[in-house]
Amino acid sequence: MDSSDEEGSEEYLFKIVIIGDSAVGKSNLLSRYARNEFNPHSKATIGVEFQTQSIEIDGKVVKAQIWDTAGQERFRAVTSAYYRGAFGALLVYDITGKDTFESVRKWLDELNAHSDSTVAKMLVGNKCDLESMRQVSVEDGKSLAEAEGFFFIETSALDSTNVKQAFEIVIREIYSNVSRKVL
Ligand code: GDP
Repeated sequence: MDSSDEEGSEEYLFKIVIIGDSAVGKSNLLSRYARNEFNPHSKATIGVEFQTQSIEIDGKVVKAQIWDTAGQERFRAVTSAYYRGAFGALLVYDITGKDTFESVRKWLDELNAHSDSTVAKMLVGNKCDLESMRQVSVEDGKSLAEAEGFFFIETSALDSTNVKQAFEIVIREIYSNVSRKVL
């Protein structure tokens, strides 16, 4: 985190990482949130990419630098540098792919191996527009999140359902953890 105090206006910068299996919609969640764009044929460019998004909380500018694996997970090449300094994480699965839900545990282990246990975590069941193809129930998502102490939300990057909320609940949680420590 960087924090500066210029002319009384504080600024915060937090790193957030998005993890999960290939094709669960990580890049589209980020492009929907940061640019309000959806790409039905997205082909990942290889290499880490991030977008910065600002929101105002308590009159302060809170910036989130949100990192996307940009396809590196296909080659099991998500490195410790990707996780370094993260204050928040979105663990994404696809509600139409049970295997992607089962992989959440693996992603969590990797996150825990490379980051602090205080990282704010949101379990995200993406593609909730594809209800007729659902393989993971809302209850299964909820119970995993409850057992692990994560937030939980279902999203659709396609129709924008809950995308803003998925990111901003995490940003607000990080801010509230950090401001509690500062006070
Ligand atoms: P990533 O590999 O996890 O970054 O996944 P992408 O964002 O590249 O998305 C993989 C595929 O799923 C693409 O064809 C997207 O168009 C599609 N996709 C992503 N999000 C959604 C969604 O919310 N609903 C639907 N129906 N398709 C989605």
